[in-house]
Amino acid sequence: MPICEMCGKETAKVSRTKIEGGVIEACSKCASYGEVLPEPKKARPIPSFSVRSVRVETLAFEDAVVSDFSKRVKDAREHRKMDFKTLAAKMNVKEQLLHRVEQGRLVPDFGFARKIERALGIKLIEKVEEPL
Ligand SMILES: [Zn+2]
Repeated sequence: MPICEMCGKETAKVSRTKIEGGVIEACSKCASYGEVLPEPKKARPIPSFSVRSVRVETLAFEDAVVSDFSKRVKDAREHRKMDFKTLAAKMNVKEQLLHRVEQGRLVPDFGFARKIERALGIKLIEKVEEPL
């Protein structure tokens, strides 16, 4: 049972009441001497950790071919002083495919990307954060 701060009696309900410049919790009888204030809006607690977990739930770490794959392939191939023909032969793929990959006109699928990774010793597939 709340207690009226004005008369000290237990009461079923107290109201925030402005009396003589102060704000007290007063019973309905005492509240009539002052000005009853509206119920304070309850500030919603911010569930900081659940916000973070929501973020985690909406992101997935997925394997994806890196966006700068063409540069990586070109750099690695040139670094190894391999021409397209040699690399294509090593990978047992068409030379033209490698041209298109280096030009960024062909995004290799996982299978092809893995082949290039092995042939050049580079990484083309990485885990990326993707919104679901
Ligand atoms: Zn009272």
